[in-house]
Amino acid sequence: MIEAPKDLSETAESDLWDVVVVGAGPAGANAARSAAEAGAGRVLLLEKAELPRYKTCGGGLIGYSRRALPEGFDVPVRQRIDAITFTHDGAKERTRRDKAGDLLVLVNRAEFDLALAKAAVDAGAVLRTGASVSMVDQPSSTGPVTLNLADGTSVRARAVVGADGSASRIGRYVGVRCEQVDLGLEAEIQVPPAVAGEWAHRVLVDWGPLPGSYGWVFPKGDVLTVGVISARGEGEGTRKYYRDFIKRLGLESFPTVSDSGHLTRCREAGSPLSRGRVLVAGDAAGLLEPWTREGISFALRSGALAGHSAAELARRARVGQDGGSADAGYTAAVEHLLGPEMQAGRSMLALFERHPAFFHRVVTRIPVAWRMFADFCRGRTSPARLIRNPVAQGLLRTLPKPAAEEPAVRQVGADAG
Ligand SMILES: Cc1cc2nc3c(=O)[nH]c(=O)nc-3n(C[C@H](O)[C@H](O)[C@H](O)COP(=O)(O)OP(=O)(O)OC[C@H]3O[C@@H](n4cnc5c(N)ncnc54)[C@H](O)[C@@H]3O)c2cc1C
Repeated sequence: MIEAPKDLSETAESDLWDVVVVGAGPAGANAARSAAEAGAGRVLLLEKAELPRYKTCGGGLIGYSRRALPEGFDVPVRQRIDAITFTHDGAKERTRRDKAGDLLVLVNRAEFDLALAKAAVDAGAVLRTGASVSMVDQPSSTGPVTLNLADGTSVRARAVVGADGSASRIGRYVGVRCEQVDLGLEAEIQVPPAVAGEWAHRVLVDWGPLPGSYGWVFPKGDVLTVGVISARGEGEGTRKYYRDFIKRLGLESFPTVSDSGHLTRCREAGSPLSRGRVLVAGDAAGLLEPWTREGISFALRSGALAGHSAAELARRARVGQDGGSADAGYTAAVEHLLGPEMQAGRSMLALFERHPAFFHRVVTRIPVAWRMFADFCRGRTSPARLIRNPVAQGLLRTLPKPAAEEPAVRQVGADAG
């Protein structure tokens, strides 16, 4: 474990900050760093936990995540991945390797998030941990935003970035609407060296038994991160899948370091990303790729954009101007960068829900399809580019057409909130 250095926490003389960021995950840490680098004078990063803190997450970094990291950032790598074993509900196992390596880079989220928070502090932000924001108040368009903390104190900001994760208070304040809510269950399992050796540099992806579900084993040395994800409404089925998955991998007898669940939420297209001087980023904004539920690259990218726009909002507030187009600019930038990726992810998920066997077959049997999957992991292509790829379109045309009256597999919006 990396220890939080003492000078990460600091008491401010004044409670008025240019930019206050709520939540020190990848979105918040990157927002605070980007705001500081964009010239916001005083930037405060508030985190309710003490760092390093645990986060339920596979810690898989695709190429887009790696590229969105601060320049010179030293990734605390736990494992580099050059092979993926695929199964379909435990059957039809096949491993694909890639000589170029680094399909995924695996991190321990506690270490990774602490390193990102340090990068924000190095850029000039002040980090305050054990600070849980309980309420937001924004009385006028030019005056400061007040954030009340659970300990009864408050801070004021010329601009706020809410990056407080998928159960976001700031997201509720802004009015973020989500159309897809999934439940992820995950354990960190301590394994002996012989078992760790079997998993070295290789992950497992299991296309699951429930529509849109999948499971994974992400090895991190003597600990394996093992999890499953499925639609939230399938709670009991998801728990059964999780128990069966761990059992059939022969991992149930090893000690479990942690065992937790977490909801992921994907925003509805067009859902708000700001309210006045308050912007939201990452999971707080429902920015997540709907098919794989990959969210770290979305958090890093939206966080950087939000920090930049918050710095501009603060600069305008300093000279008594309203926000101008800074909030609209943020929304437009996120829609431009991430909107098409989410749209493509939704389409991929809809296809995957109906045809998991097809996904398994093409990725394990058709070399060009495996290369596309590998390129997606490595960040050489994205869901939006994949779905437009003529080869991918050709493969998809081989699928049977859905009957016109066939109901949607996933009931959109049913679980949101
Ligand atoms: C089981 C599972 C596995 C996943 N695996 C992967 C993966 O392998 N790769 C990938 O790319 N994505 C993965 N994701 C998604 C990824 O974890 C998230 O998208 C990502 O963490 C979002 O980052 P964030 O900064 O927006 O939010 P978070 O990482 O959730 O950070 C939010 C922070 O805000 C703090 N906070 C919350 N409320 C308050 C408050 N009121 N006041 C102050 N602070 C507050 C929290 O303590 C937390 O530190 C996974 C998700 C799940 C559920």
